[in-house]
Amino acid sequence: MKAARLMGRSLDELVVGEIPRPEPGEGEVSIAVETVGVNQLDLNVIGGVGPGAAAALPRTLGLDPAGTIVAVGAGVDPVRVGERVVVKPNIPCGACAECTARREADCPQQRVVGVHCDGGAAQFVVVPAMNAFACGSFDAAIATAAVHSVPIVLNALDVAEVTEDDLVLVTGASGTLGRAAVEVALGRGARVIAASRAAVDAPAGSWAVRCASPAEIPAAVAALDLGRPTVAVDVSGHGGVIAAAIAALGWKGRAVFCSASVDPRLTLDARDFYLQRKSLAGVASADFAQVARALELVARGVVRPRIGPRFPLADIADAYRAFSAGASGKVIIDVS
Ligand SMILES: [Zn+2]
Repeated sequence: MKAARLMGRSLDELVVGEIPRPEPGEGEVSIAVETVGVNQLDLNVIGGVGPGAAAALPRTLGLDPAGTIVAVGAGVDPVRVGERVVVKPNIPCGACAECTARREADCPQQRVVGVHCDGGAAQFVVVPAMNAFACGSFDAAIATAAVHSVPIVLNALDVAEVTEDDLVLVTGASGTLGRAAVEVALGRGARVIAASRAAVDAPAGSWAVRCASPAEIPAAVAALDLGRPTVAVDVSGHGGVIAAAIAALGWKGRAVFCSASVDPRLTLDARDFYLQRKSLAGVASADFAQVARALELVARGVVRPRIGPRFPLADIADAYRAFSAGASGKVIIDVS
């Protein structure tokens, strides 16, 4: 089968070629891949930085493939053959206290498809059956765009306990995760301020705020005259933006952030933080129940992932370049 294999730590060492087709083992399924997306984690694997350094080479890349189950291993119901599925990349250990309580997002020993094992930038991928979520009627590209981004922001909004009573400030709102956060919060009936350095195409019911620097965020939010936000959700991964969003919060404001990929240094006004009874939580990944809920939100049209440029598998390096250059919408690799 054809696969995109990373042979060394540079984009020049990403080779699309023939490798043996993997067979599903116990508890696993084999999926004929239609689409897979580009994620920041792919670039971290290529660069050998952060969580991407854990990948042993050579490695087939690709976190979030969508396609059709073509074979199952022992212990998996054969009725699943033919099921259209999308892969949630985080594989929980299944044995720890968090896994036992079905909090898969917080499993400290989780592995990631395309990092710790071969991913879906290939004609076939083998993953644990539990990681393959039914995506029946969806277009494969939509499923790929949704499976990683929507559950994370759903988890963030769950942690912040967002309801219709909240005014939610989303920072980093112009990207894939940010757009999903805005839509999920609106779907709960909350009022939403969508802030970004880039222009934001704010959905109906939200207010767009464009700030050239993080320091402008609190004043720009105040200028809307909506009152102080009760919740801040950051997906920018920028410590300065997270700090500015926290500063913009009002009494007992709850802040959550889903990334620290750009700048992990976070400097807070500790006096304001405790006098105003603020709180802050880091959220990564999502529980499997949240993945199912997220895909349901997409099926109902509450969240509509935007598809960006598309590339055939043979041109996968160009897909990573387009992502790095700031392509708008989810960058998709069409495998078949
Ligand atoms: Zn676990």
